[in-house]
Amino acid sequence: MRVSVLSLLAILPACSSPPSGSRDGQAAPRTAAFLFDGSSTDAWVMARDGSACRWEIDAEGAMVVNVGAGSIRTRESFGDFLLHIEFAVPNNPPEFTGQARGNSGVYLQGRYEVQIHDSHGLPPADNLCGAIYSKAAPLVNAARPAEEWQTYLIDFTAPRWSTVGDKIANARVSVWHNGTLIHDDFEIDGTTGGGAPEGPSPGPILLQDHGDSRVRFRNIWIVPR
Ligand code: MG
Repeated sequence: MRVSVLSLLAILPACSSPPSGSRDGQAAPRTAAFLFDGSSTDAWVMARDGSACRWEIDAEGAMVVNVGAGSIRTRESFGDFLLHIEFAVPNNPPEFTGQARGNSGVYLQGRYEVQIHDSHGLPPADNLCGAIYSKAAPLVNAARPAEEWQTYLIDFTAPRWSTVGDKIANARVSVWHNGTLIHDDFEIDGTTGGGAPEGPSPGPILLQDHGDSRVRFRNIWIVPR
């Protein structure tokens, strides 16, 4: 089949340019629901027991990990979605090494962790920033230095289940980190460490308290599909 140059030109820019919402400062689409806009943590509860969120909002309007208090999750649950989240990892003192540097994470449906970590300049790895934890290193390490704001745009498709409850398709995810595609429709073959068991029910967005790092979050919105 002959494909005209004009038709290719129509397609290529859409393929190569990152989608709206993959960089910080871009406006949320009208269909987005804000999970955190700087004014309130009301959309969140403590993941452990559903009690009121004990993470606080700092003077700049960022929601900050309350180290030791525990992870938080959304009150609402989601199936397939597009999620935008901005974060800044702290520059922990040098005695904090390895996984204790800027560690948090975004658990999709409470099950699959997209890792947050102070990883600027390191080779991509399946336990550093942008990893699907323990399952996939990012295609490239797009991490900025500690204390700089960064963006994830996460396009998530939940697993599919038969009527008798058998999984018939794995979860899939594409992730843009600061506008760079770091996972391209990656198939997730099961939960990541600390994740809730897989199942046909939707699940919350969970933000991890790793116990060592005051990671900050802002401008969190979701478009359920
Ligand atoms: Mg983590």
